[in-house]
Amino acid sequence: MHAFDRGAKKLSKRILRYALKRVRMDPPLDHAVPEAELRRQVGRTVTREGIGAERAMSVWEDILAPACISIDHPRYFSYVPAAPTEAAGLFDVAASAANIFGGSWQEGAGAIFAENEALRWISDIAGMPAESGGVFVSGGTAGNLSALVAARWRWRRDSSPTMNVARGVIIASRAAHSSITQAAQVMDVDVMWAEDDDRGRLSGDSVRAAWQVMTEDQRSRTFCVVATGGTTNVGIVDDLAGVGREAAEHGLWFHVDAAYGGAALAAPSVRGLFDGVEHADSIIVDPHKWLFAPFDSCALIYRDPRVARAAHTQHAEYLDALRHDDDWNPSDYAHHLTRRARGLPLWFSLAVHGTAAYTESVERSLIVTREGADDIRASTHLELVMDPELSVLVFRRTGWTTEQYYAWSDKVLTDGLAFVVPTSWRGETVLRLCLVNPATTRDDLRLVFDSLK
Ligand SMILES: *Cc1c(COP(=O)(O)O)cnc(C)c1O
Repeated sequence: MHAFDRGAKKLSKRILRYALKRVRMDPPLDHAVPEAELRRQVGRTVTREGIGAERAMSVWEDILAPACISIDHPRYFSYVPAAPTEAAGLFDVAASAANIFGGSWQEGAGAIFAENEALRWISDIAGMPAESGGVFVSGGTAGNLSALVAARWRWRRDSSPTMNVARGVIIASRAAHSSITQAAQVMDVDVMWAEDDDRGRLSGDSVRAAWQVMTEDQRSRTFCVVATGGTTNVGIVDDLAGVGREAAEHGLWFHVDAAYGGAALAAPSVRGLFDGVEHADSIIVDPHKWLFAPFDSCALIYRDPRVARAAHTQHAEYLDALRHDDDWNPSDYAHHLTRRARGLPLWFSLAVHGTAAYTESVERSLIVTREGADDIRASTHLELVMDPELSVLVFRRTGWTTEQYYAWSDKVLTDGLAFVVPTSWRGETVLRLCLVNPATTRDDLRLVFDSLK
């Protein structure tokens, strides 16, 4: 008997029972617990003899899991929540059980075929061409970095050899996600900031204005313009058509970061906001945000995947056997080699439920968001900071100080009522609710609004 075989059968049942229970339950909101407190309750878990299945599972179920916030709680409104479908959550368990190497067609053909089906759907709703394609990476941060690296590769390929040692430049809006700044740091490129408007929206005109104040040297080093399809803070979609036109005019790569908002490409009521996205050279959408898939997954799609492949493929003697020129090797399309087939949960759930269920569920979040906006307008103690475009509500509690916002936020979390953290808008502390969970109702919002009285 293998050392790992002892008690394995019983253990499997216990784990699967827990997985099924967790995916189906209405979870309490829960909250973090100080490390010293966890240490006191848990004791030592990694020992020479092992603590056994029963003890390990009960430590997890009774102590550690409740020390994690339930992101799928219908009143989790902070950051960007997530609410995986049961199909997606459980299929992630199945995919882990199979432990597929998702980097090469040679090893993971079937899984990669399925992932590409899901990528195809996202490409289609974005209006990208048939040749477009890409890969699921861990998150928007990884997706943005890989897209920008591909963009720089193309610029250097098409520029004079002097650019091989020149520092690149990207143009982005101040409302772009922090991961764009982070990618620029990792890549050691400069960011030229284009001014966003009074709602945080980047327009073609403001990209043009940024271009006009740049020096000839800066322009020659600029390789990419980044637009956002649903800003993280307030959920505003940039003027993608205008920004894309400016990018094309100057021969720049047009990257659309739709990590949060991209799900709304499937929603007819707001699809018009994304006009122009079809001209993107690359786009990212996080299924772990608003496409009902578990962490962690970001769909990274390139208009011309050959560029990404040239930029990202790793070469070595020990990898030669992987390469068959016609094969689709996901490793080649981002900054990674080994990868789990993390697109499988989205694929399975899409296959089971059909895309219409996705459209309906995204529209649901949009409807509840609009109802929430109506309730805020009708209230006497709350004030919208701006009308919602997608599923983010930003509003103030009239008369409150920053300290009052934070104290309220702590209290409602401790009470298990809701998880809402303050944000700021133009220097003012305000509240922000992000809705992506189809289980969230107008009544959930009203509970939050009433607690602000
Ligand atoms: C969330 C988000 C990201 C980062 O995605 P991660 O998956 O958290 O790395 C990037 N861009 C936008 C617009 C986002 O909302």
